[in-house]
Amino acid sequence: MKRITYLSLSVIGLLSIVGNAQCKEGLTPIHSGENLAWKWEVDHKDDQPAHKGQPVHKGVEREIKEATEWRTRRQLGIPNQKKLFVITCMDERIPIHEALGIDLDDAHIMRNAGAEITDDVIRGAFLTTNFFGTKELIVVGHTECGMMSAKGSDVVNAAKKRLTKKGLDLNKINLDPRVPQLKLLNPNENIEKWIGMFDNVHKEVAKSVGYLKNHPLIPKDVIVKGYVWDVNSMTLEHVGKPRGGKVYSTKQMGTK
Ligand SMILES: [Zn+2]
Repeated sequence: MKRITYLSLSVIGLLSIVGNAQCKEGLTPIHSGENLAWKWEVDHKDDQPAHKGQPVHKGVEREIKEATEWRTRRQLGIPNQKKLFVITCMDERIPIHEALGIDLDDAHIMRNAGAEITDDVIRGAFLTTNFFGTKELIVVGHTECGMMSAKGSDVVNAAKKRLTKKGLDLNKINLDPRVPQLKLLNPNENIEKWIGMFDNVHKEVAKSVGYLKNHPLIPKDVIVKGYVWDVNSMTLEHVGKPRGGKVYSTKQMGTK
């Protein structure tokens, strides 16, 4: 497996290939032509260790080739290394790469409040599975999530108060500025669902896995898995199998 390490965060695109791997572009269709936007897979089977005494220019050429491949991978239709899409919570206590044991180039990652399956997550999952070669979706919720820290109705009431003070009408707010046509029907009734406070993280992640598995825009052969990250022990557990002694719900959060 190719490993890419940033030499300096300030030098975009300057990469070093650890392990001296040499890659070769193959002509293998990843998914029998179903994914139309990308057609070629990088084949690392012929990776060779660098030889001592090799002319320097060969190493330079290799680095330029790898950097070009990194920069243009979307044009070339190269998927991320693990063909993986991850949705997790925006919470700062989830080091998602470390949690899953993956590197920067291994996955497409989205974060939102609660790791919930919103329309934008469906959009990302749809694009990555249909056009960018992704074969696996992982949902990672977590203990002590802020989305369990208040009741949905209380958040809505607080939001309404704030909007009213500013002279704004909940019924006229654009939820997606790019698509103003995308509106909630009866916002007063449905805004609580849109905000999405939930009672139990294990149940919520299980629901999210179900949404992705059954969504018509996600191919049926895509693997979908769910996990819960414990912010205390900094470990993952299977969704639906809480190990106990942790804060999984509004009740345990002490939410009134
Ligand atoms: Zn959270």
